[in-house]
Amino acid sequence: MRKNRKQKKVFFVTGAMGFIGTHWCKKLLDEGHIVYGLDIKKNTIKNKNFKFFKNTVFNFKLLESLIKKSNIVCHFAGIAEPRLYLTNTSEVINLTVKPSFKIVELCVKYKKKILFTSTSEIYGKSTKIPFKENGDRLLGSTNYSRWCYSTSKSLVEHLIIANGEDKKLDYIIFRLFNVYGPGLKGRVVDNFIIKALNQKPLLINGSGNQTRCFLYIDDCIEAFYKIFKKNIKKEVFNIGQSKEHTIKDLAKIIIKITGTKSKIVLKSNQLYKFKGFQDIDRRVPDHQKIKKKINWKPIYSLEYGLRNMIADLTK
Ligand code: UDP
Repeated sequence: MRKNRKQKKVFFVTGAMGFIGTHWCKKLLDEGHIVYGLDIKKNTIKNKNFKFFKNTVFNFKLLESLIKKSNIVCHFAGIAEPRLYLTNTSEVINLTVKPSFKIVELCVKYKKKILFTSTSEIYGKSTKIPFKENGDRLLGSTNYSRWCYSTSKSLVEHLIIANGEDKKLDYIIFRLFNVYGPGLKGRVVDNFIIKALNQKPLLINGSGNQTRCFLYIDDCIEAFYKIFKKNIKKEVFNIGQSKEHTIKDLAKIIIKITGTKSKIVLKSNQLYKFKGFQDIDRRVPDHQKIKKKINWKPIYSLEYGLRNMIADLTK
């Protein structure tokens, strides 16, 4: 009992009602921690240890008061929807960069550890597969707004790492690789499932031979928690699994599991119609570092994760 009480921490989570944020807050609460959640969306978590603030990450006064009161700052707020990189570019850049700069400044001022969710999008179109944390990044021209998210997140990464060096900021950066599960919005997995459940065509951008490695949310949250528990300092981690699936295969698996009559439509131009779009052919994490540091390995299969997501969407 005593030990448990000692380990209890106060976490401040931005984007607490987002896909990753909700699952993370629930895990922290399950583990007995106190959580301050901030989001513009409506609160869906009821727990005596959860205090919710329906507000924006641009409210710097509120950020300051919550950062002051917490032990660990989890900065998860962001827009991780490729379509919005194309249609709402300035908003994506503003939201990724401005509050992050303030949050980093406040974490330095109050000496708080920051956990920051970055992205596998950082590596862009690099062909150095699998992507190592120290590997090169390869992005398209700034004429392609697709790269605005990658660029914004990498700028924040630079700022965090620099402050870790010269101002002793303690941090962990998570680079997420196509995490999916209940609550996901605006990505290929939820797009396809929703289309399949509604007997609508599954629209594939391009040939469908492009690949992604899909990581189930429970595996992701387990990795976060293990890293937090080990009190690892000043590191960047790929959070992903290495089994590749083509997008065409993903569509076929979803068709099989849902039993839908939906057809696959290749070369749909839903994203290619935007001049700012470029796709990524392969995106595969190297997981040697995380394996070595916390001995973490994903355990859930794609089919298991998809079935859970489908069950959640049809309940
Ligand atoms: N994609 C697709 N149809 C969709 C949504 C996405 O073919 O309805 C493709 C997209 O072009 C990309 C892959 O699926 O090649 C993964 O897309 P996602 O939206 O999950 O984001 P990304 O992994 O590109 O960041």
